[in-house]
Amino acid sequence: MSHAHPKITLLAGGVGGAKAAEGIAASQYRWNLNIIGNIADDQEFHGLWVSPDIDTLTYSLADLIDRGNGWGLRGDSSRVLNSLERLGNECWMQLGDMDIATHIYRTQQRRLGRRPSEIAREIAERLGVDIPITLPTDDRVQTRIETPDGWLSFQEYFVRQRCQPEVKSIRFDGAERASATPEALQAIADSDLIIFAPSNPLVSIAPILAIPGIREALQNSPAYRIAISPLIGGKTVKGPADRMLASTGLSSDLSGIASFYQGLIDALVIDRQDSHWQETLSQQGLAVTVTNTLMSRQEEKKQLLQETIEFALQSQLRRPA
Ligand code: GDP
Repeated sequence: MSHAHPKITLLAGGVGGAKAAEGIAASQYRWNLNIIGNIADDQEFHGLWVSPDIDTLTYSLADLIDRGNGWGLRGDSSRVLNSLERLGNECWMQLGDMDIATHIYRTQQRRLGRRPSEIAREIAERLGVDIPITLPTDDRVQTRIETPDGWLSFQEYFVRQRCQPEVKSIRFDGAERASATPEALQAIADSDLIIFAPSNPLVSIAPILAIPGIREALQNSPAYRIAISPLIGGKTVKGPADRMLASTGLSSDLSGIASFYQGLIDALVIDRQDSHWQETLSQQGLAVTVTNTLMSRQEEKKQLLQETIEFALQSQLRRPA
């Protein structure tokens, strides 16, 4: 392995995933980076195929993202959505005017029969992103959330209901019939390092792992595998991951994160506020590093990802063959 330019695969969801992606992109480790994103939050709105996590990654790396929201395009407006509402469509999913151009283009290209992963790469390239964003599958996989009032799509739960309903269970429709893309399997097989972004494990990482072949490829990979915890001080920075852990029978703390990643990671990066967990996690056989994991400013993203990569490279050298 070339330590100057290790081959890195980042598994990422939306906002937490994009922060990690930007951190690597800003570092000297950007040169052999591949990102595998989540497509299970995708849904059709107004006849257009919307892929929120992939767009968040793309817009972030293109530095076009609305940094206040963490999603959508900076300076976007809502004229199209307002007009659709006047026509009678339900418009709870925020889609900006310029953003809608992405969804029109994606939908049009899909109708031509092109592979979704090829379209995603093309959109990223045309927006100026030079890091490959890889889809885990070209097939349709959709997260469904069971609440006391029945099953919801991910966006119905997340956006329309603002994560308020209790989560009883989670399933990934279509996952068992889906095929992994050769690009995703190749990226994993070729990696020196695999990094799990501090994304929601249950709805951003789990749907990637649910695609046949991906979990096995990660388990069998000789790469050093490290996850950054999405919990800080025992709570999520944003979103329902802590509550979701409990609903799937895992404990909603760092031991739940460690159980989720059991067999998939060699090391875990935890926040200083959670340093009391270090010993327990180490006893479970994980290498643990403690640092500041909150990424607000660009500099913090770069710092955390650089530290994560350097810790992983050093640990890998010490690992028994
Ligand atoms: P989503 O699909 O947009 O919800 O995005 P992700 O699944 O990628 O990210 C959501 C997760 O990222 C949440 O569980 C947050 O706790 C976590 N997260 C967001 N920002 C940060 C951060 O700065 N540091 C850490 N450690 N986790 C973060």
